Amino acid sequence: MFSAQPTNKSNTVQISHPSIKKAGVELFIKRLDLPDPISMGNKGYKLKHNLIEAKNQGLDTILTFGGAYSNHIVATAAICNKEGLKSIGIIRGNEIEVLNPSLNYANEQGMKLHFVSREEYRNKENKNFIDALTERFGSFYMVHEGGSNKLGVKGCMEILESEDAIYDTIAVACGTGTTLAGIVSSLNENQNAIGVAVLNAQDYLEKNVLKYIPEKRKTQFEIINDFHFGGYAKSNDELNNFVESFNAQSGIEIEPIYTGKLIYAITEMINNRCLKPNTKVLALHTGGLQYIKLK
Ligand SMILES: *Cc1c(COP(=O)(O)O)cnc(C)c1O
Repeated sequence: MFSAQPTNKSNTVQISHPSIKKAGVELFIKRLDLPDPISMGNKGYKLKHNLIEAKNQGLDTILTFGGAYSNHIVATAAICNKEGLKSIGIIRGNEIEVLNPSLNYANEQGMKLHFVSREEYRNKENKNFIDALTERFGSFYMVHEGGSNKLGVKGCMEILESEDAIYDTIAVACGTGTTLAGIVSSLNENQNAIGVAVLNAQDYLEKNVLKYIPEKRKTQFEIINDFHFGGYAKSNDELNNFVESFNAQSGIEIEPIYTGKLIYAITEMINNRCLKPNTKVLALHTGGLQYIKLK
């Protein structure tokens, strides 16, 4: 049985389970999904300095990209709405006829949705394509798919707080590795980080992280590629059952695309004694609940 106990930090809980105890490890979860499970998570951190930069450039419109269920699209729509910025979402797939709950929510937040073919989407960073978007929508500040850029990393350097210096290992789910790059950049020298790949990215994630982090932090992170379950959003009964029992037992909601793979991976690594006794692990709950919460 998993259970969650409060710690003296309001956004962090300790997770208990007989097998965690047996391994002599301590596991904590930092709740970036609070207080708002729909728009919070890591995406707000990735956007923060991009929105500041847009305002500095005198631009009031953010344009970004994503799939039909994208956490990044939903978060961008909500945060731009809150900040008084206009937003445009370029959505992969022009066959979409009825808005799903995620896109419907983005639309309600005032995001202009523009559907493009998968082919166009693949070439979305081409100059011709961007020029055509500018022609259509006027000038905008562009944020890459998933909020992946240097300013995104800068925002993610603000995730860990000074109190988090007590943890030995920080663990996070990786899609583009931007969040991990921010975490690694902000580590103390006696800490390390584990990134659990949620897609079959081979060495792409490692390269992306190395691009952004200071030289002296290069040996302080590791990407775990064993728990993507076949690829992005791929799952099986084992993972689904794990996520369901974890939710029911701990009262902390996780989902099978990101945080489910993270917590599954960490508990497997603990069971397999990949983490030394007395290690204090802090896993980041990066959100991703919109596609469960929005109906
Ligand atoms: C986007 C996302 C991630 C991955 O973040 P990257 O910076 O792209 O690695 C992790 N967890 C959740 C819930 C996300 O929505």
